[in-house]
Amino acid sequence: MAEAYDPGNIFAKILRGEIPSHRVYEDDAIVAFMDVMPQGTGHTLVVPKAPSRNMLDADPATLGPLFAVVQKIAVAVKKALDADGVTIMQFNEPASGQTVYHLHVHVVPRFEGVPLKPHSGQMEKPEVLAENAGKIRAALGG
Ligand code: 5GP
Repeated sequence: MAEAYDPGNIFAKILRGEIPSHRVYEDDAIVAFMDVMPQGTGHTLVVPKAPSRNMLDADPATLGPLFAVVQKIAVAVKKALDADGVTIMQFNEPASGQTVYHLHVHVVPRFEGVPLKPHSGQMEKPEVLAENAGKIRAALGG
């Protein structure tokens, strides 16, 4: 049986505004913000506001709007950072590599010959996150 959703998780706190984030997008159902330990320049997380641990317990109605925004963010990060490609990842439960238990999708700009950095590796400088967020917001037209 799936474990219960914990409203004390870090993304729930970000969604409630209790912890700061570098937001690039928000609508009534979805928020996107910079990953603080990016696996590549411009690594962005797309997070539905509706609570679920991951894909396994999510309301299917959440997924259409979520992936519509994932596409929007993927196009924007590629343009904003002049990337060659975009990797999209999503993890479910610890065995898969999930570390934060609120559903989210990773959108990582990719550059020819540049490997992904480790998952949940090193913290990025806030000024770098802010600069990349600004470029992505501009590419989104906001
Ligand atoms: P998961 O392993 O659950 O798929 O991914 C969680 C992601 O959240 C990791 O890539 C990690 O770097 C990122 N992360 C962890 N804590 C924070 C935080 O406080 N703020 C932000 N913006 N990202 C975080």
